[in-house]
Amino acid sequence: MTDENQTALTGRLVVVGGGTAGAEVAFASRSGGWRGEIIVLSDEAYPPYHRPPLSKDLLKMDAVFADPDPLKGAPLYAKKDVDLRLGTRVDGIDADARTLSLNANQALSYDRLVLAVGGRARELPLVAQLETQPTNVHQLRTLDDCARLRACFQTGSVLMIVGAGYIGLEVAAAAVKAGQRVILLEAAPRVLARVTAPVVSQFFEREHAKRGVEILTSTTIERLSFGTDGRVSNVATSDGSEYRVDNLVVGVGLEPNIELASDAGLEIGNGIIVDDSMTTSDPNILAIGDCVDFHSEFYDRRVRIESVANAVEHARRAANTLTGRGPKPWQVPWFWSNQYEHSLKIVGLSTGYDETRVIDDSQGTSFAVEYLRDGRLIAVDAINHAAAFQSGKRRIAETIDA
Ligand code: FAD
Repeated sequence: MTDENQTALTGRLVVVGGGTAGAEVAFASRSGGWRGEIIVLSDEAYPPYHRPPLSKDLLKMDAVFADPDPLKGAPLYAKKDVDLRLGTRVDGIDADARTLSLNANQALSYDRLVLAVGGRARELPLVAQLETQPTNVHQLRTLDDCARLRACFQTGSVLMIVGAGYIGLEVAAAAVKAGQRVILLEAAPRVLARVTAPVVSQFFEREHAKRGVEILTSTTIERLSFGTDGRVSNVATSDGSEYRVDNLVVGVGLEPNIELASDAGLEIGNGIIVDDSMTTSDPNILAIGDCVDFHSEFYDRRVRIESVANAVEHARRAANTLTGRGPKPWQVPWFWSNQYEHSLKIVGLSTGYDETRVIDDSQGTSFAVEYLRDGRLIAVDAINHAAAFQSGKRRIAETIDA
């Protein structure tokens, strides 16, 4: 370890963002030998928690909705001397002075800074342009969003979901189980079109239709009508239909929170640009998680990945950088989704595939799709098929290492 690193280990490490990546980098840096202050600043009201249950278990009517599912138990912060400051929003970075401005009127200096600021739900232009946001239009990113949405689940009410990606489909599954009429609108010709092969889309379309979810593909919103209370009352769609709705969920993707970084002059691409050590264009500032544009060693291109595994991997890699240890080898990216009793596990990135192979185990309820490019395995979708996921993970690492 260099002298410079020894000095750094006793300085002040500030982490902006108390999500998966932020919590992980704080604890991994402490266990990796950072002896100085570690401060985590989060604009949320809750200690860092798991987001995946927000669209799954926490939306079920019978799920216990007390405290969030914490990432690290509360006593651990004191035990490891990690200073978690909730309700604290960072408004600006002065990279030359190494100072942050907080909550509009406070300042905090840092020796090393980690941006773990995630992203925000993308808005529908038709809604974003409204002067006042209708109270029955929902997004799902935080525990508060989840609590608001779940409070609207009433048997027999009509929920329209815009966007049939993972979050849209998971919310559809929870809502239809809770007795709502669910209408799922998707601009692409099939659900999960951006991320899976047609056979996977067809499987999930069938499973949702079986439970009564009305799926409208190649369909967009044409017009919204409002009640006297300002809430959306009716939605006219591009196929010429009109639906009365009680609530609308918008699940059309994520915008990375890049503004703090770009205002500070850091290099930006499809996220905050970092190198292999998770360092940004400023050597004192690292960035990790959903907000980051990084070079994937496996796919030899720049990517931005939204998954828990990716956030944790970035955090541990950044902690290694901060504490002067070398980087660990990269893991093949992976992701999961649960809908009804079905488990979908995805390993690798299928973008750019030119061939698929379906491994069918049991009449279509347990199967896997392998994605290949130029004959090389690049990704596997495993539906109720843990073995295909595990073997895919190993084989992708091997073929890409070769
Ligand atoms: P985040 O978890 O978004 O954390 C960023 C934090 O920074 C937030 O708390 C934010 O409020 C805070 N912040 C932002 N700006 C500031 C600021 N200026 N000052 C202070 N604080 C700030 N992934 C999977 O792998 N499997 C799943 O099944 C899955 N399901 C999901 C379901 C839902 C509903 C959602 C929303 C996500 C899901 N994900 C899933 C994705 C996964 O949760 C994310 O990839 C992961 O949370 C990213 O972690 P992060 O720390 O980068 O960002």
